[in-house]
Amino acid sequence: MADMKLCSVAIDGPSGAGKSTIAKAVAARFGFIYVDTGAIYRTVGLAGRRAGVDPHDTAAVPALLPGLSICFDYGPDGSQRMYLNGEDVSGPIREPEISMYASAVSAIPAVRAYLLDMQRDTAKKQSVVMDGRDIGTVVLPDAGLKVYLTASPEARAKRRLAELLAKGENVTLEDVASDMAQRDKNDATRAAAPLRAAEDAVRVDTSDMTLAESIEHICALVRGRFGLEG
Ligand code: C5P
Repeated sequence: MADMKLCSVAIDGPSGAGKSTIAKAVAARFGFIYVDTGAIYRTVGLAGRRAGVDPHDTAAVPALLPGLSICFDYGPDGSQRMYLNGEDVSGPIREPEISMYASAVSAIPAVRAYLLDMQRDTAKKQSVVMDGRDIGTVVLPDAGLKVYLTASPEARAKRRLAELLAKGENVTLEDVASDMAQRDKNDATRAAAPLRAAEDAVRVDTSDMTLAESIEHICALVRGRFGLEG
């Protein structure tokens, strides 16, 4: 096992492009681990909110970090579970309010630096499909395959709305679209590791693709790049 060549697939892009659903399916197809890095930032956002800290406070948020235990593992169905000080917070981090907290804390360089090793170490031990905003540019600059996944703002807002409604959240398309536009802006304009495609990333626009087509498209890229079957 130790000699087996590890494969890393980096998938970046704005929220609602389908990254997590596609990345999870692609990872399952090839037997790779799926790493949702947004969940890690969400966990810091949740910790900040619980501590009553302003998520933009570049001193108070990093000051919380040494007192936090953040880790993740995988449930029997392969889903990533996030733990904050031993508590499974996989549910609470998905609340829409936490999206904004995550976006704000993730703009703080000390937060990004603190979470870097956790992400890199995972890819040193297993083959991964890792999704986020800066995976191809910062976290795994040597990833064997980098994909920049996007879709039109309308398509992304509709998909995110469907996800939230399915979870029983009481939200409208307008809420989702404005929240998403704000987060895109935060993520793309921040100084620390802004959202952008790596120069060597393959750009994939999923606006007119079904989910199944998007998954097949990325699987074909993985097969071609790593010479794998699946
Ligand atoms: O992917 P998700 O929408 O769950 O991520 C929540 C927030 O975490 C994003 O809006 C982004 O600000 C931040 N994030 C990041 N870098 C990553 C993953 C997520 O800054 N690699």
